Amino acid sequence: MQNNPFQNAMTQLDKAAKIGNFNPEFIQLLREPNREIRISIPVKMDNGSIKAFEGYRVEYNNALGPYKGGIRYHHDTDINEVKALAFWMALKCAVAGIPMGGGKGGITVDPKELSKGELERLSRGWVSRLSDILGPHKDVPAPDVNTTPEIMSWMADEFEKITGDKTRATFTGKPLENGGSEGRGPATGLGGFCVFEALQKKLNLPDKCIVAIQGFGNVGSNAARIFTENGHKVIAVSDANGAILNENGLDIAALEIYKKENETLKGFTGSKEITNLELLALPCDVLVPAAFENQITESNAKDVKAKVILELANGPTTPEADEILYKMNVAIIPDILANSGGVTVSCFEWEQNLKGEHWSEEQVNQKLRPLLDDASTKIFDISRKVNTDLRLGAFILALERIQEKMYK
Ligand code: GLU
Repeated sequence: MQNNPFQNAMTQLDKAAKIGNFNPEFIQLLREPNREIRISIPVKMDNGSIKAFEGYRVEYNNALGPYKGGIRYHHDTDINEVKALAFWMALKCAVAGIPMGGGKGGITVDPKELSKGELERLSRGWVSRLSDILGPHKDVPAPDVNTTPEIMSWMADEFEKITGDKTRATFTGKPLENGGSEGRGPATGLGGFCVFEALQKKLNLPDKCIVAIQGFGNVGSNAARIFTENGHKVIAVSDANGAILNENGLDIAALEIYKKENETLKGFTGSKEITNLELLALPCDVLVPAAFENQITESNAKDVKAKVILELANGPTTPEADEILYKMNVAIIPDILANSGGVTVSCFEWEQNLKGEHWSEEQVNQKLRPLLDDASTKIFDISRKVNTDLRLGAFILALERIQEKMYK
């Protein structure tokens, strides 16, 4: 990877350490995860051969609760990416005010190249290699890029088989019929929208915004739908193959059906094709990166024309781009706040599993919004008070909460 996400995460930590009032020893501790594990997972392929895949789990910090964080399946995933994502999870859970620490997992694999059976054996293999360190009060994984509720179901089942634990609380993001929570699917997109609404006026955004979204996976498509349903205009979205634009606004409900049927966004009625880079440079009120790390960098930050960036992906903006955009007066609502709705509803799922309860989607969303409103307001106030950007405001809030718990 061109930009090492873990180095970027540490640069962010150093910047926050300079502004906040932190014990230097605490900051030093946070430069290493508590534990990082690499595994090799042998999988019986459909043709009878056995192929080994590289997998990871990084347990970063558990001061606030069990390690929590998703598992990413991607051909570019490596230990540096997983470490960065685990670090961000620790801060994200602290920002959201949930009793969870930070962890992350992954497998270097392009899941599209596997049959369903191979994918299931690989997922079960990840669990069997790591079952000793997982558990409702130890480490609670969840979905991330390319990992679905079905995969979480296989994993929960494998964990139960190996350990006999019947709580189902070791994996979140499961399907409803297998202990999942109402509202977990759209939670990251909805949470991002709640954070946007909490900050909309404070950031001088208009009542009705023009929005461009990079990514149309679970997070991007739900965000697009929710922005549209609330009267905002989504003019562009993208996937790995490119972006589409309609300055009059895309019909997101129709686009979701189109994408399912055609497996592409290209050719959607009334839209024209643009590149992912062009999408990032569109004139709009809110730019929503909802795909991968390192999308807005030193080389394209100056082209951004949005007033606000709402980071629904993890790590989409590099530290160099942060500085350029700060000078350009573009506010960045940072990932550890903007996408914290997902892990928050994961935490609700864990709580429901442990208590043997099932909450309605309304109950879930009623618990979600106040947590995000509170975090958004606190972060905005900190950033104004110490005259810095929202990312450093969020880091200060999270680091204060973790430090307090570790030294109490
Ligand atoms: N993968 C998601 C994230 O990056 C969700 C993690 C979770 O639900 O534990 O926040």
